[in-house]
Amino acid sequence: MAPRSAFPISDRTAAFRERHFPEIDDATWNDWHWQLRARIRSLKELERIFRLSADERDTVAALGDRLPVGITPYYASLIDAEDPADPIRRTMIPVAGEFESGPGEADDPLAEDEDMAVPGLVHRYPDRVLFLVSNFCATYCRYCTRARLVGKTGEYHFNYDQYQQALDYIAAHTEIRDVLISGGDPLTMSDDRLEWLLSRLRAIPHVEFIRMGSKVPAVLPQRITPELTAMLRRYHPFWLSIHFQHPDEISPEVAEATARLADAGIPLGSQTVLNRGVNDDVDTMKRLMQGLLRHRVRPYYIYQCDPITGSAHLRTPVAKGLEIIAGLRGHTTGYAVPQFVIDAPGGGGKIPIMAQAIVGRDGDDLLLRNFEGGVFRYPDPEGREEGR
Ligand SMILES: *Cc1c(COP(=O)(O)O)cnc(C)c1O
Repeated sequence: MAPRSAFPISDRTAAFRERHFPEIDDATWNDWHWQLRARIRSLKELERIFRLSADERDTVAALGDRLPVGITPYYASLIDAEDPADPIRRTMIPVAGEFESGPGEADDPLAEDEDMAVPGLVHRYPDRVLFLVSNFCATYCRYCTRARLVGKTGEYHFNYDQYQQALDYIAAHTEIRDVLISGGDPLTMSDDRLEWLLSRLRAIPHVEFIRMGSKVPAVLPQRITPELTAMLRRYHPFWLSIHFQHPDEISPEVAEATARLADAGIPLGSQTVLNRGVNDDVDTMKRLMQGLLRHRVRPYYIYQCDPITGSAHLRTPVAKGLEIIAGLRGHTTGYAVPQFVIDAPGGGGKIPIMAQAIVGRDGDDLLLRNFEGGVFRYPDPEGREEGR
């Protein structure tokens, strides 16, 4: 097997680099720090690379202090420069819909700020916490549920003092056995800073399970260096949930990043937000989920898009998610079928949404609908008493 030090560059990405970054050599392109420094952020930079629609141009010009634009050159190479309807592009380049505030929308729809035990630590469920460690992301998704804090300076500082407060809280609460590290994107932090956090979490005896949520393997796969995976594997059991939106993201670069992570023994899951015009059809979702399995990523959640302010143009009816699950379940590998959830506005937590499989009862039999719509019987005589 070839050594895993050099990072692949796909043909598509190489052509993009040749055109837009001709002075950049392989080593620089594959340096994740360079990718972050060279992010496409301003209207001028966007216009250099994409043929913007009038809507996109006017919206970027008027963004003000809203969620900024930030796209790594690598991720930009996956986007069709001519087509505003390109699925990944819709999640990265803002349109005027962002300025419209629809019914029920809010800046913190999940009321995370109210469930903060200490700054940056959300303790909503009995045995686990969400630990926000950064407000920096490699790319800024237009539907971001944490747009209120991501890419901004504000009340959260994400410094060692704040980390220490969170660690003290976790250490004092012996019921916490699972810590989910998120942000922002934790994998944009240095190896040293990450290891500082992981080693301190591991030193707390009741913390059994450490996991992280990140979009970095999809948008900045070059970050997954041998040094990073060697460090992460010292803190097992360590799990990683990767945010994937579209099958176009599954490139040779992403294949390398997920292989390195999986080879380090890190179980990989995926989280996908259902977005209008991005991944809201069965075929696209099926290609994404099957593609993830080929790279040892187990689909975990599909989220109904949170009602963040200005998100209506990216949201679908809930029925669309049910239709997608119905198009997956039974029709493809069970491992390729994630749980469809709504993270309940107001802090109710994740609620699984399922089509009703129980059609009714007939005497001692429970009547069940299968994936093809056929009705089947399961003998359940004792359930009859309880069902009354
Ligand atoms: C999503 C989430 C978790 C983790 O939930 P799981 O269903 O265990 O993956 C924990 N805390 C908060 C606040 C969350 O939003």
